[in-house]
Amino acid sequence: MHLHRSVSVSAILRSRRAVSLSDGTLLPYDRLVLATGARANIPTLDGVTRVRRDRQIPTAHAATLDTSNAPLPRGVTVLRDLDEAERVLAAVAAGKRIVVLGAGVLGMEIALAATAARGEACVVYHGEIPMAPNLDRGGDSVLAQSARRAGVTMVNHSRAESLLFHQDDDGVDRFDALICADGKQVHGDLLLLSCGVGARTELAQLAGLPVSTGILVDENLQCWTDERIYAIGDCAQVAAAPRVGDLTALPAGGPSGLIGPGWRQADWLAARFIAEVLGRPETAALAASVSAVVMLKADGIDVVSVGNTSADPWDLSVDDHAAGCASSPLRASQWADREAGRYVKMVTRDGILGGFVYVEMPRTAVELTLLFERGSELPFDRSVLLRYDGPDYEPEAGSAFARDVTVCWCNEVTGGTIVDSAEAGSTTVACIGAVTRAGTGCGGCTARIGDVLERFAAATAASAT
Ligand SMILES: Cc1cc2nc3c(=O)[nH]c(=O)nc-3n(C[C@H](O)[C@H](O)[C@H](O)COP(=O)(O)OP(=O)(O)OC[C@H]3O[C@@H](n4cnc5c(N)ncnc54)[C@H](O)[C@@H]3O)c2cc1C
Repeated sequence: MHLHRSVSVSAILRSRRAVSLSDGTLLPYDRLVLATGARANIPTLDGVTRVRRDRQIPTAHAATLDTSNAPLPRGVTVLRDLDEAERVLAAVAAGKRIVVLGAGVLGMEIALAATAARGEACVVYHGEIPMAPNLDRGGDSVLAQSARRAGVTMVNHSRAESLLFHQDDDGVDRFDALICADGKQVHGDLLLLSCGVGARTELAQLAGLPVSTGILVDENLQCWTDERIYAIGDCAQVAAAPRVGDLTALPAGGPSGLIGPGWRQADWLAARFIAEVLGRPETAALAASVSAVVMLKADGIDVVSVGNTSADPWDLSVDDHAAGCASSPLRASQWADREAGRYVKMVTRDGILGGFVYVEMPRTAVELTLLFERGSELPFDRSVLLRYDGPDYEPEAGSAFARDVTVCWCNEVTGGTIVDSAEAGSTTVACIGAVTRAGTGCGGCTARIGDVLERFAAATAASAT
């Protein structure tokens, strides 16, 4: 394998089956895999320069394609690479006030982490509640309440319009405040723009490949119009290619923006290439992506949304629908305790769990995960499931440690695989990561891996006495 460091690809020359690098090298390919990822969105704000990346970008400027955005004003950052992470960390460590624009998963995680580190954080966002696209209203409200209690200032219903600056000693402008449409000024030391990401599609676009919210690839991850070029990860949008004569409306959806699906695509594609080289028949089709799992990781506020959680328990029209429709409607059961910061919603069709949301209900969540993965029917009395997080919980009564329950979603590693690895001598979280990759993605499952190992150690000690 040849690794080309510190260079970027500035153009794909499809007719020559080569890519040109920023150092002038021309690199030929038989197959080209685009894994250019995504970059942070820069919102339209007076005081912030945005780079328009579109078909008009001259290839001469393409050396900047792998870099982030135009330089942001002093005291303003996005969070995508290590330098940016270090900038945010330094501000938190210095006790600076962080203003986060955007209340998505990342914005909320940063604000909660900053307050947990005794920093000051304030989240400014459009709607009534945070994480609106990922969570249902109940989960959102409980999260907002818990965040306020954790010390985060939540500024909702606010459309940021411009920035206010003050001058540093060297005469350079530095962020001072965010000004909202209603005239409100939110002061701070560092402004973190957390307004989603956009796939890096320009290389593909410049090469004439079809692009929508991502680079359009079919179920084999092959570009719609060039079978030698593939795309995976945050830059790829998987959608069936239109047949000749089909309407050419671009497909809806987009890249998942999560580590796990991209890693699975990479594994699958590597296996396919190896099979091709070895002259073996086609490998199995790429498994449909596991339902999107959205996870917020913060001390004491554990939020997860899995599968389809859109059903509303108070929507009475589902009964009418049920009467006149062949397919059964989605039903939702919900339990909320804003005071305690706990929430669960389970969405079923014919009793089978198709999605759930929880806030701070870890044991119930493990049960739900297992039921979801097995496609099992929920007990008629759903409240039975809530008792796993009650004070009289008996670990043995639940399935928390069932072998087939997924512990690491990014790598799809089950409890059974972790126990097998522990039996083979990998008895620390780090060793489990090295052997199975569990915990090496988003890192949200490391505590659970620790629990599984602890239980394994206790069982081993008990059987030895
Ligand atoms: C702060 C943060 C927290 C996150 N937390 C989670 C989480 O908890 N769970 C989760 O599932 N996901 C999370 N994500 C998302 C996850 O990191 C991404 O889904 C994942 O990294 C996508 O991988 P990728 O390889 O497609 O793209 P990337 O990791 O973005 O890699 C793309 C690479 O391509 C390079 N590149 C681009 N253009 C060019 C070019 N022209 N020439 C050369 N190189 C180029 C870039 O420099 C970069 O190195 C998080 C992301 C961030 C930023």
